[in-house]
Amino acid sequence: MLVTRGPRGTQDTLPEDALVWQVVEDKLRSVCRRYNYGEVRTPIFEHTELFLRLGESTDVVTKEMYTFLDKGGRSLTLRPEGTAAAVRAFLQHGLVNGQLPVKWYYVGPMFRYERPQSGRMRQFSQFGIEVFGAADEAADAEVICLAIDYLTEVGLTGLKLEINSLGCRECRPAFRAALIDFLEPRENLLCEDCRGRLQRNPLRVLDCKNESCKAVMANAPSPLDSLCGTCRDHFEGVQALLKAAGVSFEVNPRIVRGLDYYTRTVFEISHEKLGAQATVCGGGRYDNLIEELGGPPTPAVGFGLGLDRLVLSLKEQGVQLDLDRGIDAYVVYQPGYGEEAFKLLQKLRASGVVADIEMMGRSLKAQMKHASKIKAAFAIIIGEREVKNGVGTVRDMQAGEQQEVPISDIPRFVREARK
Ligand SMILES: [Zn+2]
Ligand SMILES: [Zn+2]
Repeated sequence: MLVTRGPRGTQDTLPEDALVWQVVEDKLRSVCRRYNYGEVRTPIFEHTELFLRLGESTDVVTKEMYTFLDKGGRSLTLRPEGTAAAVRAFLQHGLVNGQLPVKWYYVGPMFRYERPQSGRMRQFSQFGIEVFGAADEAADAEVICLAIDYLTEVGLTGLKLEINSLGCRECRPAFRAALIDFLEPRENLLCEDCRGRLQRNPLRVLDCKNESCKAVMANAPSPLDSLCGTCRDHFEGVQALLKAAGVSFEVNPRIVRGLDYYTRTVFEISHEKLGAQATVCGGGRYDNLIEELGGPPTPAVGFGLGLDRLVLSLKEQGVQLDLDRGIDAYVVYQPGYGEEAFKLLQKLRASGVVADIEMMGRSLKAQMKHASKIKAAFAIIIGEREVKNGVGTVRDMQAGEQQEVPISDIPRFVREARK
């Protein structure tokens, strides 16, 4: 095995690309702060049982899990998504009995064992939001607004928001039955996956991307026709709040988000990609999930947003992020003056200047060349003459001009020039 190659489905983010990630993460933290969401940090691995419980009503997660036995013989799983662990933490810490709602966000790596492809790796990064304890339509509307604000602020364009309601325990069975009645006589027109889903999770047929399935579903019953009064009021309430907030949206009865645990509101946000729309964020309400994971009945709503795909989309759309490249000062020195140079370097850094120093033993000329290559705004030369006179030669790399500055003044000089 070649140990100089990372495992299949993983990738390294080198510093230049990491700058993009830093902007993308900084912005999500600032949006969450403004919306008054706190960050929850759960472990990378959990008891396998937690995800199996989550997966009982879905066919997404369980097949693709990274599951292993630890040295104590426990079955553990690298988290394939963020909601289950957030719910587990919410219950473990007794927050269900405290101040509600609990408003959390999380960001970090998730793991799924699937065929790697562009924008879909085995380790990927996800940003998610969870509101626990609020049944009010304001929670649905807020979660959607937060996602739209975030995507707008990172600069993604051509955003489209689609919403739907899948009803509740009371009214969903009627829709499910109507859907199965509609699908059964058309079963031979469905793709193989959907034939398997028909009895187990017929809602998933609604958003199958197969052309033949899409054609069948064009005339399928709409979940909106089966909503009970309470669900209809809730859905109208969500729409009224989105309108009040000036957020444009479309009602699309085909949006189901795949997972059976969703109730009432589901939504997807897509953006323009090569003339089509690509989904970048999806979420909704899941009022039964906390109960299914062993807690008391507790309403919840949230979303998940894949950051890898977001970063790719930003690149494809040519979005210019405000990236700070280069450094303020590069300290260049003659042999024998390393200590003076290092002392100045640390003074620069202590005063807030982004500074670096030669450590390859190159000639003065080669050091200057390097300063220019790494886009240093200033090169500061320390040599025999400078040390004798208590100065440094400060060279403006852009203008090509240089001047001597008293050594103790150099940090202030650079800081002010870089303002
Ligand atoms: Zn209902
Ligand atoms: Zn299908």
